[in-house]
Amino acid sequence: LKDQWEVEPEELTLGQEIGSGQFGLVLEGTWRETKVAVKMIREQYMSDEEFKEEARVMMKLSHCKLVQLYGVCTQHSPMCLVFEFMEKGCLSDYLRAMKGQLSQDVMLGMCLDVSEGMAYLENSNFIHRDLAARNCLVSHNNEVKVSDFGMARFVFDDQYTSSQCSKFPVKWSAPEVIRYSKFSSKSDVWSFGVLMWEVYSEGRLPYENRSNAEVAESLNAGLRLLKPRLSPDGVHQLMEWCWKEKPEDRPSFALLIHELASLPNVN
Ligand code: ADP
Repeated sequence: LKDQWEVEPEELTLGQEIGSGQFGLVLEGTWRETKVAVKMIREQYMSDEEFKEEARVMMKLSHCKLVQLYGVCTQHSPMCLVFEFMEKGCLSDYLRAMKGQLSQDVMLGMCLDVSEGMAYLENSNFIHRDLAARNCLVSHNNEVKVSDFGMARFVFDDQYTSSQCSKFPVKWSAPEVIRYSKFSSKSDVWSFGVLMWEVYSEGRLPYENRSNAEVAESLNAGLRLLKPRLSPDGVHQLMEWCWKEKPEDRPSFALLIHELASLPNVN
């Protein structure tokens, strides 16, 4: 009996390279007449058994605002993950490409899309751990979906996983994550606040020109990112709520959806 999550190599056609990430190359492909994105996993970065088990969990997570994992191809070497194809690539690049052309409606819609995907993860007791505009993707009809959930745990590169190291996403991380790696849905909420900041800053990097150590220090001193020029006051207040020092003082994603949906129109 075959595992339902196992993608047969003969059913998978690989096409051209579309990107490269933490785990290796990302290729375009076709699987059962569907266009897919295939992530090739550099073997030394992944513990096989643990990863397969987790892929099973990830495949059960299914929501229209999450990039769907269709299956894993473990018979292929390197092992690969088969995902829903997202025509317009990652959100951070998309924001930069669309600079000056994004309406208030569109920006708010992006934040809502992400909050809906994240509320589903929160409800499933699944922590993303690396939410940022670079880890969201844009579909052919401009819907934004959350990608790479849970994947940060499989990166065995200390440079990335230790908060003291250069590649750790300090600029998206809650203080309790920087201090003692305490991840929770509320630390995802902090990251979501930074993602809203990225959207309304049209893809600028948060705390540009500042080192991770400087950012950690200014967070300790109670300083936060400033209101982006394009951000309405209501959205900025939500960002600040996401950046409360104590995790329990931050809103849940369920509440954020409600708050975002009831903001006054600013056109
Ligand atoms: P990693 O998370 O391992 O660093 P990414 O997920 O960022 O890798 O993938 C690298 C690039 O590949 C992305 O920036 C994007 O352009 C492309 N990509 C990844 N997943 C998809 C997908 N599902 N559909 C279309 N393009 C994708």
